[in-house]
Amino acid sequence: MRAAAEEHPAVRECRRCGETKPIEEFTRDRKNQSGRNTLCKVCTRRDCNEQYAANPDKYRAAKRRQYAADPDKHNASTLRWRAANPEAYSESCRASERRRRVANPEGRRESKRLAACRRRAANPEEHNERNRAWRANNKEKRNETKRAYRHANPTRAKASDRVNYAVKTGKLLRPDNCSKCGVACVPHGHHADYSKPLDVVWFCPKCHTDVHRKKDARVRVASAESPLPSATG
Ligand SMILES: [Zn+2]
Ligand SMILES: [Zn+2]
Ligand SMILES: [Zn+2]
Repeated sequence: MRAAAEEHPAVRECRRCGETKPIEEFTRDRKNQSGRNTLCKVCTRRDCNEQYAANPDKYRAAKRRQYAADPDKHNASTLRWRAANPEAYSESCRASERRRRVANPEGRRESKRLAACRRRAANPEEHNERNRAWRANNKEKRNETKRAYRHANPTRAKASDRVNYAVKTGKLLRPDNCSKCGVACVPHGHHADYSKPLDVVWFCPKCHTDVHRKKDARVRVASAESPLPSATG
């Protein structure tokens, strides 16, 4: 049923769903005599989605080809679309962020960690206060974490026990500043080699964490060893 007689109808019947809708509900189509598509926007959208879902790679490849052929045109039309559809654009951003998260959970964890670091650097007082409060309210959980840490890192835990005992009995002297940045603190004894438990370098908590982060990043191959240092170790 071509609407040849109606050159500029105000309404049209959709060929797919059969509903009669205002002409604005049909996308423009220069190939059609009336200048409008024969399917309503809703049906067109559903068709497109179905075709895309059936063969996403084909459509992605086509997009890539279009882009390669004329990147400027593509970018301009992308910008226009974003400006005209802010809601859809932010939803598509969220969707691709979700896909990234699923594809790369490790990267997600890393970016979460970095965001936490930035918050902490921006407001260290608030961070410390929140940590103190959390520790005070979660003693049992903390003990549980410590037990789990000891269980997962027996070598570190044992070496750290040896250091604590040596400090207590006066065999080792704990300095009152960090050997790396010099800040006054109760430094952690860090082991370069756990087989020499009394051979330690004294680091403030921050330098200690930094050292381990670098070291553990090198050896973290699905290992059970935790990247967070205990008070010594
Ligand atoms: Zn329709
Ligand atoms: Zn330090
Ligand atoms: Zn250490």
